[in-house]
Amino acid sequence: MSVVPIASVASLRAHRIAGYAPGPRLIVTGAVHGNETAGTRGIERVLAEIDSGQIEIVRGSVTFVPVCNPLAYREGRRMGDRNLNRRLQPTATPQDNEDRIARVLCGWLAEHEVLLDLHSFRSPGRPFVMRGPADNRGTLEPFAHAAAEARLASHVGPNRVVEGWMQAYADGVAARRKRALTPGAVHEDPSYGVGTTEYMRAAGGYGVTLECGQHEDPLAPQVAYHAIRQTLALLGLAELPLVPPAEPFDCLALAEVIDRHAEGDHFVKTWTSFDPLAEGEVIARRADGTEVQAPSAGHIVFPDASALPGHEWFYFARRSARPL
Ligand SMILES: [Zn+2]
Repeated sequence: MSVVPIASVASLRAHRIAGYAPGPRLIVTGAVHGNETAGTRGIERVLAEIDSGQIEIVRGSVTFVPVCNPLAYREGRRMGDRNLNRRLQPTATPQDNEDRIARVLCGWLAEHEVLLDLHSFRSPGRPFVMRGPADNRGTLEPFAHAAAEARLASHVGPNRVVEGWMQAYADGVAARRKRALTPGAVHEDPSYGVGTTEYMRAAGGYGVTLECGQHEDPLAPQVAYHAIRQTLALLGLAELPLVPPAEPFDCLALAEVIDRHAEGDHFVKTWTSFDPLAEGEVIARRADGTEVQAPSAGHIVFPDASALPGHEWFYFARRSARPL
């Protein structure tokens, strides 16, 4: 399989295939974080199958962006100058690599109706999907496509589904503001929680983030590849067999983000994302010895032992009552 070369870190490359019959407009993105290459490999494999005629796009269109952050990808790093998947918005006066990417990428996202965003993660674990909110007319993340998004989330492969990102992030920002005197505290805006899927929803579409596995997991590109084929089948873009959802689903909602306050704050053990927690279980100790306990039964998600003081340390998730 040919690997897409990074010849330029001053431009983005997209591959678009449009069937002659009308249909949904899908965009598939890889390497939003430069060291997360499972999606890039999955996209390359599907492109090769389109080139050879094994997959034929007959309806609607699909746009593949194998590498959304060329600079970070070339360096094998998560970010160029900052996290592309936060505060994603086009700006009139770009200040850094990610601002420059956003000017192009946001326009591309807005031209489409459905997004499949392919990522991977640092610590070991099984793949999962992140979906958006229920339909609502609120101000944080108004949405009207929850049913279609749930259908997509249920077909991409994994049976673990996580929701509640924007609300947990916004609550975290509010808590950070309350603690504003904490040295090193980051003063953020809830809009900093906007990444690819959130931008897509704000632009009138819907989408899911698929976390394909650990960065180096040799199976992760296969997870990405399967998800792309499933999405093409589900949306009717190609005549491919559609594998039924992997029920039962394990649905979790992010309920709270806990920041690291000081260098002395430490976990009581090496946590892995989705480790179960009992009510009152000690998760960590603050520098002054205060215990950080689980507020109820649930799971620890995205623990980052080396988080900078004033930044996200881990998330606490509970079982979600929202059906898929
Ligand atoms: Zn990522």
